Amino acid sequence: MVSAHTSPLAPLGGRETGGMNVYVLELSRELGALGYEVDMITRLDGDLPLVQQVERNLRIVRIPAGPAAPIEKEAIAGHLGEFADELQRFTAREGRGYDIVHSHYWQSGRPGGVLARRLRVPHAVMFHTLGEVKNRARISEEEPKDRIRAERGIARRADAIVTASPHERQLLEMYYGADPARMRTIPCGVDLNLFQPLNRDDCREKLGLAPGAPVLLWVGRLEKLKGVDILISALAELEEPGVTLLIVGGDDRASALRAELQRQAEEAGVAANVRFEGPVAHDRLPIYYSAADVCVVPSYYESFGLVAVEAMACGTPVVASRVGGLVSTVVEGVTGYLIPWLCPEPFAEKLEVLLHNPELRANFSRAARSSVERFRWRNIALQVAAMYDEAIARRRSRSRPNEGAGFGKEAYEAAVLAGR
Ligand code: UDP
Repeated sequence: MVSAHTSPLAPLGGRETGGMNVYVLELSRELGALGYEVDMITRLDGDLPLVQQVERNLRIVRIPAGPAAPIEKEAIAGHLGEFADELQRFTAREGRGYDIVHSHYWQSGRPGGVLARRLRVPHAVMFHTLGEVKNRARISEEEPKDRIRAERGIARRADAIVTASPHERQLLEMYYGADPARMRTIPCGVDLNLFQPLNRDDCREKLGLAPGAPVLLWVGRLEKLKGVDILISALAELEEPGVTLLIVGGDDRASALRAELQRQAEEAGVAANVRFEGPVAHDRLPIYYSAADVCVVPSYYESFGLVAVEAMACGTPVVASRVGGLVSTVVEGVTGYLIPWLCPEPFAEKLEVLLHNPELRANFSRAARSSVERFRWRNIALQVAAMYDEAIARRRSRSRPNEGAGFGKEAYEAAVLAGR
């Protein structure tokens, strides 16, 4: 697993640390549990061991490239060539081959592709977000041309592409000409043991919230694309008095946006209702989800949207924008509402409906939990493993008989037979 710009072990809720970090770590863990040996490869960004065993069958490998300190995502591009070379040196030194290389995000796609070509093994890719889509959403700064070029090249050359939703698959085909035969739509997973409905009153007490008060929750990386401004305006429109909005996520690097949102809340007269909680450790989030009446995901775009699924796993209804992966996770009128217009009024309208109607919330809550069973990590890892097998088999049928031998199918079938 190549994740060049951000470590799968980094604390979550920062500007760059969110769904992708969770995805790489959880998928790798689950593959490890199925019997695959997985290395998560990232850039060395601190005084940390170069190779570290994380759990059985799972290591993190930190490749020195550029300063051994955190650097902006944009600056990493300048070190990717070095990253690719050092990565190759590492594999040569270790004498460790891989049967497949799976790269995450466009910045890993290039060095990951180089490694796969050097090892003559298939290259699988997951983009997580697409530059072209961000540009079309037109709310963040223009994504660099180099990103779009790189994504197109990676998408066309990759042996296998995981898309988190059917929508992402369409976009890859439409914008980048990716071959549909090599794409597999496999949703992200959720840890259903961690994300469970907890006692609401206990959770509220832990967070200093009154038992009967209406509470809305937003969770994520604090960036413009997430549409928190829409939510604050919607809050100001609510007739329901005393609604608290908890905003979880956003480290120091998001301080400019936080200040902007704070100003917006002051101007709208709801500053006293908004609590900025900062980043919260992933395993404490069930307390937040369970304490809230509704989780709101007002993003301009979301390729999957783990937060919505985590909230539903905790039995919390979701009001989300009708974009990207959210369309395939939130069930309209059953587990939440999908809002097609990215403006405050329709969000406020649906929030009122849910806040005024405890019975409806209870129905949504029950449906929400059962609707996310399909995202259990084990199911997801098995689908990804099957995709690896296909890519390996395709390559074997095209090239030398021994390439990529010994990986995948046997372990996968054994796990299926053992019911793991
Ligand atoms: N997250 C967290 N703590 C925070 C904020 C976010 O653990 O303070 C996690 C959250 O639980 C979710 C991920 O970060 O798993 C965000 O993923 P999502 O797919 O919603 O958004 P992305 O980061 O991919 O844009």
